[in-house]
Amino acid sequence: MRFSLLIGVFLVLINSLLAQTQDELVIKEIFDNVLESQVAYENLRILCDKAPGRLLGTEEAAWAVDFMKAYFEELGADTVFLQAFSTPAWIHHSSRVSMMAEGEEIELSADALGPSPSTPTNGLKAHVIEVQGLEELKELGEDAVMGKLVFFNRAVDLKHVNTFRVYTSAIDQRYHGPRVAAELGAVGALIRSVGTRVDDYPHTGSTGFKEKRIPCAALSTIAANQLSEALKKNQSIEVSMFIDSEDLEKITTYNLIADLKGYEKPDEYLVVGGHIDAWFNSPGAHDDGVGCVQSADVMRIFKELQLKNKRSIRIIMFMDEELFQSGGNAYADYCEANGIVNYCALEADAGGFTPEGFSIDAPDSIFQILQSYHELLEPYNIRYIKKGGSGVDIYPLKKLGVPLMGYRTDSQRYMDVHHSAYDTFDKIHIRELQLGSGNMAALIYLIDEHGF
Ligand SMILES: [Zn+2]
Repeated sequence: MRFSLLIGVFLVLINSLLAQTQDELVIKEIFDNVLESQVAYENLRILCDKAPGRLLGTEEAAWAVDFMKAYFEELGADTVFLQAFSTPAWIHHSSRVSMMAEGEEIELSADALGPSPSTPTNGLKAHVIEVQGLEELKELGEDAVMGKLVFFNRAVDLKHVNTFRVYTSAIDQRYHGPRVAAELGAVGALIRSVGTRVDDYPHTGSTGFKEKRIPCAALSTIAANQLSEALKKNQSIEVSMFIDSEDLEKITTYNLIADLKGYEKPDEYLVVGGHIDAWFNSPGAHDDGVGCVQSADVMRIFKELQLKNKRSIRIIMFMDEELFQSGGNAYADYCEANGIVNYCALEADAGGFTPEGFSIDAPDSIFQILQSYHELLEPYNIRYIKKGGSGVDIYPLKKLGVPLMGYRTDSQRYMDVHHSAYDTFDKIHIRELQLGSGNMAALIYLIDEHGF
């Protein structure tokens, strides 16, 4: 009895050791492939070059979808299709901000926030009230704010090590500032760019209006300093603002979906994705062209290495993460309506820098299984697999009970480039990018192989 129990334990041990060795070998094969591949990098070069500013509803966005669709077809995906949905859209044409100081008109580097309305054709001109945040503005009240341009100038808190925390420290001004200013009777709003550098690149982004909208823009950090200095010398200087933008009530747009069919459970999908749209002022290399080409690379790796997947691998290029998050919501609605089973979902939207880890939004039992893969991925720069958020596009799947995962990278340089013209292809390092594709493919392989 005791002897047979011992044999049993021994066999289980041998089995798990063999499985681990097999996993190690496959993962090594994945990295041998990605570290020599240029495909994702070259795809990204084309995407940034041919379709910068690919915001929802633009020709550039349509071009990017077509380009990636052709790539998946050429790669030999089993199914490639456009998942159509309707959404409002907002198109940016131009933005300009200047101040009159000491009798001179000085240009201030600025980009409209989305969805800022247009100013009158001749622009608007107003006195400025500078505040350090929403509370200060609310305390000043309607009398002080009416007819003015509100300038939110609180700087980010650079003391956080993770730059997503730096970003969060001032994002309330961008997201809520213009709405609160509008409610208090302001004619326009300016925000200090939410970025980590002092430079002349404005960082745009979305702002959350309710009913009343006013023209609003982000100033570069240098321009914000200039304006603040000028106001210290003379509180009554005027700022001019010109924004030309367009609201589209309803357009039809698409998420691009490419599937690699599973041999055992083809109706269960392992979702991997990034968002194909990028702000009007940006080539969107790190945000999020890189997440798109890395996701696409997961399929290329499975095809080239002939890794047999039990479940279907579904790569999604989500539309419209930046403005209204309509793509992520439309995919979740489509799955709910059609009873589509997403076994798990992984999003890459944290830039293409050196890998750092995966953050997991899933029940404990699944989290523990995922965390047990850390040892296998550690040689490839994965420092952690820990609990945390996943991604904006896959988040709507949470209500359907889908385990969610986010690919994380070293964040130090991300907020330098985020939502700005500085987010160019030359900021991408091929090995850092490829290590991301490799780790994403390895994680998907492990999940498919061992299940939850
Ligand atoms: Zn993004």
